[in-house]
Amino acid sequence: MTARAHRSARAPGHDDDYDAVIVGGRVAGAATALLLARRGHRVLVLDRDRYGRDTLSTHALMRPAIVQLRRWGLLDRVVAAGTPPVRRVVFHYGDDPLPIDIAEPLYAPRRTVFDRILVDAAAAAGARFRFGVRVDDVLRDGGRVVGVRGRDRDGAAFTVRATVTVGADGRNSLLARRVGATVTRATTTRSAVLFGYWTGVEAAGYEWCFGSGTTGGLIPTNHDQVCVWAGMPTERFHALRGGREAAMHAILAETTPDVARRVAAGRRSGPIRGFPGQDGVMRRPWGPGWALVGDAGYFKDALTSHGMTDALRDAELLVRALDGVLSGREPEAPALSGYERRRDDLSIEFFDATARVATYDWDLRQVQADHLALSSAMQREARALTALDDVVLGSAAP
Ligand SMILES: Cc1cc2nc3c(=O)[nH]c(=O)nc-3n(C[C@H](O)[C@H](O)[C@H](O)COP(=O)(O)OP(=O)(O)OC[C@H]3O[C@@H](n4cnc5c(N)ncnc54)[C@H](O)[C@@H]3O)c2cc1C
Repeated sequence: MTARAHRSARAPGHDDDYDAVIVGGRVAGAATALLLARRGHRVLVLDRDRYGRDTLSTHALMRPAIVQLRRWGLLDRVVAAGTPPVRRVVFHYGDDPLPIDIAEPLYAPRRTVFDRILVDAAAAAGARFRFGVRVDDVLRDGGRVVGVRGRDRDGAAFTVRATVTVGADGRNSLLARRVGATVTRATTTRSAVLFGYWTGVEAAGYEWCFGSGTTGGLIPTNHDQVCVWAGMPTERFHALRGGREAAMHAILAETTPDVARRVAAGRRSGPIRGFPGQDGVMRRPWGPGWALVGDAGYFKDALTSHGMTDALRDAELLVRALDGVLSGREPEAPALSGYERRRDDLSIEFFDATARVATYDWDLRQVQADHLALSSAMQREARALTALDDVVLGSAAP
């Protein structure tokens, strides 16, 4: 039975019926919804959070993300939201700066800005969103996933049926657990980060700092703020005593004194947030009636700031596969295994280099070598995305 035929054979008594139900409405989920809706598919996105709420993440976008946002017609919206262009990246190895000017700017929109841009674009393309609803489980018909069940904000139970159920529910994905997605690659290295927002800090662009067992950085963002972060091994994070701001200043001073001085001259606005780290994992991102995208299928340490970029990439790779399935042009298994191969081919080098950097078990020469590996993986990724045709953009693309 084809995926579509399976839907017409479903039992009555369901609440709703879609081509795709997507759990999670942030970078991966909203981007997947946008592209599916632009191809004319009926999409529902469910998220337990509120629309546009901030989340535990810094937000530096890298070159491949910029390539895609431009193709999707969304880069102008990021710029129009007042996101400052980043025209220079400075790597500091200790107090030794290595500035790199970039021809085309990068951007680091706050998640409160960026996630809304994606959701609004997807909704304008016809995707439906329900926020404040929690998905508890998948629905099954034999061995196939045929939708989800959950509870709305008043605690009322609901079910949604769909030809395909997409888990875009982040690094602790419930969907991945419920479908038993196989882990295909994993790391046991994790690193921690503290971050917050400052005004009055001079930043040349993205500034990435590497010391001996510590890291840090500056990310210029909306509202004339700079996101300041300080990274460390997870063990040090758990051993921190005293205030987080003092810990950040100490780590930055150990890493790159010049950057620490510039941060000290600014003023913090808002709380400092901490992330203790989580092991990296790649999961098989598909099975009968289901797919995973974004962190749900592939999470790597935050230290290389690449999760959002990869979530956007994988949204497009997944939609390219799903469009053929939902339109009845292609059988599900070969289409979705093609998505997995493409994702893995573009990810593994980056995943492994990220795991090495996250150990903090390097000297400055070794970490520079890993940066070259990361940079070449990123260039390959950007080239692959630039070479994609515009098929998935659909007629509604600007
Ligand atoms: C500290 C830190 C710093 C980072 N810095 C960067 C950076 O600078 N640049 C970068 O590119 N990446 C960065 N990342 C990674 C980035 O945050 C993720 O890769 C990105 O958010 C993944 O997007 P996603 O849509 O897959 O998942 P998420 O953004 O996690 O969204 C998942 C959504 O699913 C919803 N959800 C989960 N479970 C359910 C459920 N059961 N029912 C309903 N809804 C559910 C959640 O409410 C959430 O809105 C960082 C991560 C961390 C932790």
